Amino acid sequence: TAKNRGRNNFQFFSPAMNDLASRFFRLEQRLRRAVERNEFVLHFQPQVDVAQRRVCGVEALVRWQDPEAGLVPPAEFIPVAEETGLILELGEWVLRGACRQIRAWHDAGWPQVPVAVNLSPRQFQQSDLVERVRAILAETGVPPAMLELEITESSLMHSVEEALAQVQALADMGVRLAIDDFGTGYSSLAYLKRFPVSRLKIDRSFVRDLCDDRDDAAIVASIIGLARSLALEVVAEGVETAPQLAALRDEGCRHCQGYLFSKPRPAEEVAAIFAAGAV
Ligand code: C2E
Ligand code: MG
Ligand code: MG
Ligand code: MG
Repeated sequence: TAKNRGRNNFQFFSPAMNDLASRFFRLEQRLRRAVERNEFVLHFQPQVDVAQRRVCGVEALVRWQDPEAGLVPPAEFIPVAEETGLILELGEWVLRGACRQIRAWHDAGWPQVPVAVNLSPRQFQQSDLVERVRAILAETGVPPAMLELEITESSLMHSVEEALAQVQALADMGVRLAIDDFGTGYSSLAYLKRFPVSRLKIDRSFVRDLCDDRDDAAIVASIIGLARSLALEVVAEGVETAPQLAALRDEGCRHCQGYLFSKPRPAEEVAAIFAAGAV
């Protein structure tokens, strides 16, 4: 009972919890070292204008090149980075890396398409975010309209007035804003109207069963309709099959991203896609 355990406090933690805590701690240590040693790489996934079959944007997605474990996907370390605050340093590295890549593609003469960067809620809440973004754009010589920041509904709804000021300042600078994983979080449609965002990204969980599940089909159709009424662009995430693409086109979704076109790839391979001219 709790009373008996009271004398030996450590027993409140079950072996499973201790294990979880020490795994978290070890991961935090390794991640801290990885940030110091610059063990991250960016991959880029094309977004496609399905009418023209042209690349109309790319999303930058971070990977951890761990000397022991190899390439680690973000789902395994972003939550810990977010929890520990390391995301601020990592996020800044991602932003700078993406802007340098925009510059490099520009200098190589490739078509100018916006590059999207994911912003974690914690980064979005930084009071000097706007100045940090401005400084990186200036340092890399990238026009603001070439950068798109992806934020989630929960970032926006966390404290609406602050978020609105932040988004407004970024939009005034000319940076594009997208709402990522749209439909999975809580967002107020009334507020959505007030945020100067450029586009909604339909979450991949709705696209997956789009052709078999009437509810998912209805949700996708409503998001596309909502985007149209609010004059926002819409991008479908996680498009893997031709029938999904056909259904999205029928609904009037012009921009798609997914394995059907390309997985996230190293920058050189994306340049090869640009070189080919079409996907
Ligand atoms: P996200 O921003 O929604 O990114 C889309 C994810 O879906 C990527 O996973 C991408 O590889 C995956 N994906 C794209 N097309 C398909 C498809 O057709 N099928 C399937 N099954 N998956 C597809 P990834 O790269 O593992 O990233 C996962 C999440 O980690 C991202 O979701 C984002 O929330 C986060 N993340 C990635 N990079 C960063 C970053 O630089 N900063 C922050 N804060 N978060 C990041
Ligand atoms: Mg994203
Ligand atoms: Mg997403
Ligand atoms: Mg996400």
